[in-house]
Amino acid sequence: MASVSILKCQNYEETEVVQIMNKLLDSIGLDKITGKKILLKPNILYAAQPEKAVTTHPAVLKAIIKYLQKNGNTVFAGDSPAFQNQEAAASKAGLKQVADECGVPWQDFTQTAAIPAPEGKLVKSFQLASILNDVDIVISLPKMKTHSLMYYTGAIKNMFGLVPGLSKSALHLRFPDRDNFAQMIVDLNLAVKPNYAIMDAIVGMEGPGPGSGKPRQVGLLLASDNVLALDMTAARIIGYKPETLPILSQALASGFWLKTGEEIDYPLEKAENLLIKDYKLIHHLHDASMFRDYMPEWAFRLIKNLTVKRPIFNPNICKLCKECVRICPAKALSVQENRIKVDYTKCIRCYCCHEICSHHAITLKKKLF
Ligand code: SF4
Ligand code: SF4
Repeated sequence: MASVSILKCQNYEETEVVQIMNKLLDSIGLDKITGKKILLKPNILYAAQPEKAVTTHPAVLKAIIKYLQKNGNTVFAGDSPAFQNQEAAASKAGLKQVADECGVPWQDFTQTAAIPAPEGKLVKSFQLASILNDVDIVISLPKMKTHSLMYYTGAIKNMFGLVPGLSKSALHLRFPDRDNFAQMIVDLNLAVKPNYAIMDAIVGMEGPGPGSGKPRQVGLLLASDNVLALDMTAARIIGYKPETLPILSQALASGFWLKTGEEIDYPLEKAENLLIKDYKLIHHLHDASMFRDYMPEWAFRLIKNLTVKRPIFNPNICKLCKECVRICPAKALSVQENRIKVDYTKCIRCYCCHEICSHHAITLKKKLF
């Protein structure tokens, strides 16, 4: 039976995090892992200070590094934000400093290698960070967050950061429908097969995540050797039915991590005692993809334009940094007359622009219904 260890941890005070983390990691059997090369993959969506709750907190990374090093492991860490300089983004998040302090080399994910995904449904090979070929163990370190496109983001979605920089945009363009995008993320996880997940849910993000939501005190740390079991647990705690979430339902359907209906064991805190009633979730959006097979392309585009949330840019908040223009996979954005213009006929509703706008100048709204 899959199992997820959960412990309460109310703040990021170093001594407290270390003490609780040690107990948590013992509980998932990481104390038996010695002499291995281990890659830690925190979540750095964009350069943001830890208190914004966009990124995995440095106190969590530090406690994990210290634990693994104490057991004689060689630890590496890294992530690839969408477009920013990787080290600068990691520094703003406080993660690079922790890695430096602990003698952990920060990895440059721009070096890539072909990683086969023979069990993938849509993708049979990914171009991912080449460090994957040099390590024995991969650990996903997600932040508990809502996600405007996928509703929830956790251990499985966090692995998308192994795709370097703007190559992520190319995958958004290749898989514009929500379900296909979710399947691609599952395929990527079947290629990498992350060995463990440790989630920072001391402060999560609620509302329009993963970049524009608000920090939310949750007071938990979660760990498991099963990424799907961890994600199903975290999603359930914040109020989702996990099997209705695109990534989790397709990961479940793959049968690799869990069997349908399989129970999850909670050896420490019980998930059912930790459910949050008022976490601000992303409500399931209309998805026009179901109409694609029944109408001509022009009609499908019209329906999609009217019924699916679109990004709206607020010129009073926008700083014209053009980061959204750079990341947009559909080339739907431009600067005209000192404001961002959107070509909604090109926009594929991937919400990458909304995700990375650190000034929160973009909201998602439906035109109709
Ligand atoms: S909308 Fe946001 S990301 Fe785009 S130019 Fe304005 S501030 Fe920058
Ligand atoms: S405008 Fe925004 S939502 Fe539309 S395709 Fe570009 S990045 Fe995606």
